[in-house]
Formats: sequence, C-alpha cells, structure tokens
Amino acid sequence: MPIDRRGWLTTFGLGAVTAAAAPRARADEASCPAGDAPLRLQDFRPRSMLHVKETHVPTPRYPVIDVHTHFTFTASETKGVPTGEKVSFTGTGKAALEVMDRKGVKALVNLTGGSGKGLEATLDGLDRAHPARFWSCTEPSYGAWLDPRYPQIQADAIEKAARAGARGLKILKTLGLGLRERLTEGPLVKVDDARLDPMWEACAAHKLPVFMHVSDPEAFFLPIDCTNERWDELGNHPEWSFHGKDFPSHQELMAARDRVLARHPKTLFVGLHVGHNAENLELVSQSLDRFPNFNVETGARIGELGRQPRTARRFFEKHQDRIFFGTDAIPPPAGERTPQQVFKDELYEIYYRFLETEDEYFDYAPAPVPPQGRWRIYGIGLPDGILKKVYHENAERLLGLKS
Ligand SMILES: [Zn+2]
Repeated sequence: MPIDRRGWLTTFGLGAVTAAAAPRARADEASCPAGDAPLRLQDFRPRSMLHVKETHVPTPRYPVIDVHTHFTFTASETKGVPTGEKVSFTGTGKAALEVMDRKGVKALVNLTGGSGKGLEATLDGLDRAHPARFWSCTEPSYGAWLDPRYPQIQADAIEKAARAGARGLKILKTLGLGLRERLTEGPLVKVDDARLDPMWEACAAHKLPVFMHVSDPEAFFLPIDCTNERWDELGNHPEWSFHGKDFPSHQELMAARDRVLARHPKTLFVGLHVGHNAENLELVSQSLDRFPNFNVETGARIGELGRQPRTARRFFEKHQDRIFFGTDAIPPPAGERTPQQVFKDELYEIYYRFLETEDEYFDYAPAPVPPQGRWRIYGIGLPDGILKKVYHENAERLLGLKS
C-alpha cells in the first residue's frame, strides 16, 4: 500500500510539487480527490487513451529460471549490517511452488540465504526440501569484521558454505553504502577493499558465482526535488536515498566494482539489476566487453529497460549469452512494501510480456503503479533463440543450475 507522504513532503519542502492548474478529474471519481482543491501530484493517475494491442502472456515460451528472489533474509543485523547467522523466511516453499508451476518457472535462486546456521536453515527449508526448484546463496557475515583475521575467516566461511550446498554468494549494497570501518561507525568500507580479496578468490576456487548489488539507480544519489524522476519512489522510501552525507557517488561505486572485476578474473560475477546501471546500458555494455567474468540479470529493472526498448533490444542481442532472467521477487507480506517486487502471477506475466511481445506503453509493475517513476514501457519482442538463453540456458551453463 502506498503510504501517506504528506508528512514527508512537508519535511522536504516539496508540498509545492502539485499540478495546480490541472482540471478537476472527471473519470474514476471514486478514487479521485473530491472538491476543487489543486490536484496533488500523488493523486494524479492518468489513464492512457491509446487503443493499442494488449497481449496477455500467462506463461513463458520456454521454462524459466529466476536468478533473483528473496525467500529468506538475514534476521540478525546491526543498523542494517548483517552480523549474525539467523534467517527469517518470507514465503513457504509450497505456496511458492504453486506460483512457479502456474507461471512456467522451473527454479528460483534465493539470494539472501544467510550464513552459518542461518544458511543451514535456509537449505533445509528450501533447497533440500525441494531439490532443483530452489537454489540458495550464502552471504558474508560481517560479525567478525573487527577481527584482524576477518579476511581468512570469511574465505573459510565461503568454503564451508559451498560444501553445505550454497550455489553462490550474494553481496548486498551494504558493501559500499553501509559497512563501515568500525562496523557501523567510521569511514565507509570501499567495494574494492583488499580485505575482501580472499573472499572473492574463495568464490572462484569453489565455483560460487557472486551476485553483486552495488549502488542503486542514479536518481537515488541526487536531491529529492522536483527534478528527481524517482520522486514517488523516494517519497515512499526516503531511507533509500544516498544523496549527501558521506556516501560515494554512483560513478565512484561503479569504478570500484570494475576494479574488483579486473582483480579477480577467475571469479564469475553477476551484476544484479542490469549491472546496477540500467539507465546507462552503454556503460554496462562496456563493462561486459571489458570483463569476460561479468554477467547481468534483469531484476526490478524492466521499468528502465522497457522505456528504452530499441536500446534494450540491441543490448539483449549483443550480450544474449550473458544475461539472466531475474525479478527480485519477494513473497508477501514482506514483498508488499515494494509493488514492483511482490512474488505473484502478475509479476511474471509483465516480465514475459516485456520480453516476448512488442506491446506498447504498458505498466511495468502490478498496481498500484507507478512505483519507481511516472512512465510506462514497451515490449522488446525477443526472438526464440535469445529468449531461450535468457530464460534458462545461460543460468544452466554459467551458474551450473541444472536439474
Ligand atoms: Zn534483490
């Protein structure tokens, strides 16, 4: 549910961002504000008057492996920095399997599988209970960050996780934007900090791909003002803003990420959210050209890809062997905080419509829209060969996710 942002708007002095001259809404009176008061931006929900083709795509043309979901989360943390070994489950395997079976999803990668005992609980609850349907990843535990032996402790934890059955390592944006020299205080630890080198190398040694979330949309690093295209989204989640304070810029984070890719050529990296840079596919493309160990997935970014359909289609054609299908789905109730991520049938249908059809100007997320920004998207109508690769072949070949 969208939260009432009035308090937030006042705090940021943004109450003036209203369409004062807009005529009073006529249609859909039930959901439009009554009276002659100026229409507020957050109440403006124009209906498209385009009469264009609408294709319902209930199932994908080929079986799907969704490489980006969150069925468990690390439950113990200090100010957002994961320090413990407990996980909480956001969805049950059985309910999830029903959605998967209806939507042609043969397997899901559960990224935030935790570490140590938490990882064991994840593997018991998902991977071992439903073999080849759920593949879970481990995460670094920063609990020992202050121990001078941390680099080796973390490398050893990777080896143990691989032996237990983890299928990858997930890096949250905590690295670069949350973890600090004294855990939650002091300067931010850089993405390419040398203390993490043994961890990246251990992933190569034990064949665990690294699913990396570094940085966020460019707009999250800019002032939340009337020029910010993600004004609605940041209004719902002001804590997602990385503008000001001592946060690095988006460009600095990308440069640090590239240094990690260069320094660990034997480690396979998956840049989540289209390489964390879906607004700039030219730059993502350059990183893919430069680093053969780099790959990307689509989670929660069809809103970006679908508003540049010609550029996106060329991107898929050029890098068709290194793009994975991902949604960033989170089962309810946790997923309901972010409408573009709720794990349900409609979420998958929108991704299939975007990838398979040339439909025009449709919503990139289930209602209420638009959660990320006020635009709609266009399908890119991928041919069969590319669809098959993106839907499951690339994940089977590069991530070893074979049933
Ligand atoms: Zn995610």
